[in-house]
Amino acid sequence: MSEVGKRIIFHELLTPEEALSKVFSTVKVEPLGTEVVRIEESYGRVLARDVYSRIDVPPFDRATMDGFAVRAEDTFGADELNPIKLRVIGNVETGAEELPQVNSGEAVEIATGAPMPPGANAVVMVEYTKRSGDELVIYRSVTPGENVMSAGSDVMMGELILRRCTVIREREVGLLAAVGIDRVEVFRRPKVAIISTGNELVSPGKELGRGKIYDINTYTIAHAVASMGAEPIIMGIVRDNINEMRETVNKALNISDLVLLSGGTSAGLADLTYRVLDEIGPPGIIIHGLKVKPGKPTVVAVSRDNKLVIGLPGYPSSALMIFNIIVKPILARMLCTGVDEVKIRAKLAIRADGAKGRRALYPVSLVDTGHGIVAYPLPAESGAISTLAFADGYIAIPETVEYLDSGDEVEVTLFTHQYMPANLYIIGSHDLGLDVLIPMLPGFVRARVINVGSMGGLYAVKRGEADVAGLHLVDEETGQYNVPYMIKYDVKNAVLIRGYLREQGLIVPRGNPKNIRSIEDLLRGDVRIVNRNKGAGTRFLLDLKLKEIASKMGIKFEELVRKVNGYYYEVKTHTAVAAAVAQGKADAGVGIRAAAAMYGLDFIPLGWESYDFAIPIDRLEKDSVKAFLNMLRSNEFRDALSKLPGYKVPNDIGEVIWKGQ
Ligand code: AMP
Ligand code: MG
Repeated sequence: MSEVGKRIIFHELLTPEEALSKVFSTVKVEPLGTEVVRIEESYGRVLARDVYSRIDVPPFDRATMDGFAVRAEDTFGADELNPIKLRVIGNVETGAEELPQVNSGEAVEIATGAPMPPGANAVVMVEYTKRSGDELVIYRSVTPGENVMSAGSDVMMGELILRRCTVIREREVGLLAAVGIDRVEVFRRPKVAIISTGNELVSPGKELGRGKIYDINTYTIAHAVASMGAEPIIMGIVRDNINEMRETVNKALNISDLVLLSGGTSAGLADLTYRVLDEIGPPGIIIHGLKVKPGKPTVVAVSRDNKLVIGLPGYPSSALMIFNIIVKPILARMLCTGVDEVKIRAKLAIRADGAKGRRALYPVSLVDTGHGIVAYPLPAESGAISTLAFADGYIAIPETVEYLDSGDEVEVTLFTHQYMPANLYIIGSHDLGLDVLIPMLPGFVRARVINVGSMGGLYAVKRGEADVAGLHLVDEETGQYNVPYMIKYDVKNAVLIRGYLREQGLIVPRGNPKNIRSIEDLLRGDVRIVNRNKGAGTRFLLDLKLKEIASKMGIKFEELVRKVNGYYYEVKTHTAVAAAVAQGKADAGVGIRAAAAMYGLDFIPLGWESYDFAIPIDRLEKDSVKAFLNMLRSNEFRDALSKLPGYKVPNDIGEVIWKGQ
């Protein structure tokens, strides 16, 4: 069979476990040798040997309180009514070398941390004594050993204090210093070369040309490598060109212990990457793909001198996910640390589909509802890096499971070691006033904003997942805001709090080159719009206006929508609407005045809308919600908000305007 033929064959996909065992049986993955470092330079390094103590800690019996060193027996029976008198014969400071002998009837003044003088076996705290000259009155008895830390009680000479393969951080280095060790033998840090591939990639900081995007993977992967304690070596971007790729991969192999390459593994160009990676062998490519989604186009190759090259998928979120499940365990072996992942259990917020014979991985955003943690699965394959930035961890749906339903229990592998839940979940419609308010909240409030549109917020309140939801939903019949929706959707468990007024209008380029005057102009054909996502209050507003026009024209809404160029071009925030107009991707979009002002765009007012807050009744007593409401009602916030263009503060801001039951 020809070499080319071999590559084209569709190879069997492996599960992550199968892939790792194939890696570990093909190459010896182990620590790379050792070096000696000073303890002040040992942060994050991994001990190459067990460490034993050569001394006792503390090295001598040590006073743990300021007071008087005595023979405990001399104080027996002492109390407020029957104090005992002793004679002070001297004084011991910390670091003292000469120590007086304490005999019966005698006491020595002693400082915290000072060595106990011979003869004494306890310290009476200074608070229970009264001294005049060398006469000491003691109002409380002590038992032998009281307020004394005996030699070796913390660490004993010869004791194993830290094991091989322990990561040195603040607590470990404390132990090393305590026993007088100033240098330690640690494993050499694995050098990990990082290559991004793609003609479309440009390094951040440079000008973006047409059709280009910034290189993300170089940086996400480098940080992921560094966070494990390995040393990233950034090789930069290579074009989709076989010679360039070959050259960079070979260079990377020469200067590193592991090579991570991303992109170039999906169809089309895959052949190129495969050829380069196969050439580094034998054995060359040993894994041709994973039975996971996302991450199927993951390849692993082994060079002639047994170095691993791992080809990660191009999509940044997929690349990081595969880093977690494949690269982490490999690096952990090279570092000798083991993978220390933290897993927690949560309930799924919404249904998540399996991947038909592949393992589905979803990044999830966690919401602490007060009665359990709920996981919101986020799409991982979309190529949106923002999804991952807001994710707390990920879940895996087994190959054989068709889907998991909302409410099903899932195990979440955390991206960080500590999951620090937010204590104020603001889920709903995007608003610039909130961006002003949130930074003004007191320090204990850890707010998490999830922009899912007004309807998404309404449901999140109804399900008890949101603490606060910003809404601006206009009722088609009455033109009234928000209250009709609370009733129609039966959000009985919540109150509606008066927020503020925002001016909605058409955002158009500066100078309004297409001379857009009203919603009717959006039907002109030469005007392309940018729309908001379904469920967004602003989308409802536009639809309401379009429905009015449709009924005037005597045609169906669906028919009218077909005339609106760009109706299906959707973005998720007001600022994204303004950005699309600013970048010339649309001629108009509906949004708030503040967003137009932010981008220096023109604004054609359509009217004022109420942006109010729905809050579950049982959250009104929650400290973070109280802080939110206090700030909403404060003069400080009113002043700040009225400075935003297109915002008006009503007198009853912060008051309950509707209550469910
Ligand atoms: P590929 O496998 O090269 O076809 O890449 C899949 C997708 O990921 C494409 O949309 C690429 O533009 C994107 N991509 C690949 N590498 C990077 C990178 N380093 N940074 C950002 N996006 C990337
Ligand atoms: Mg590419």
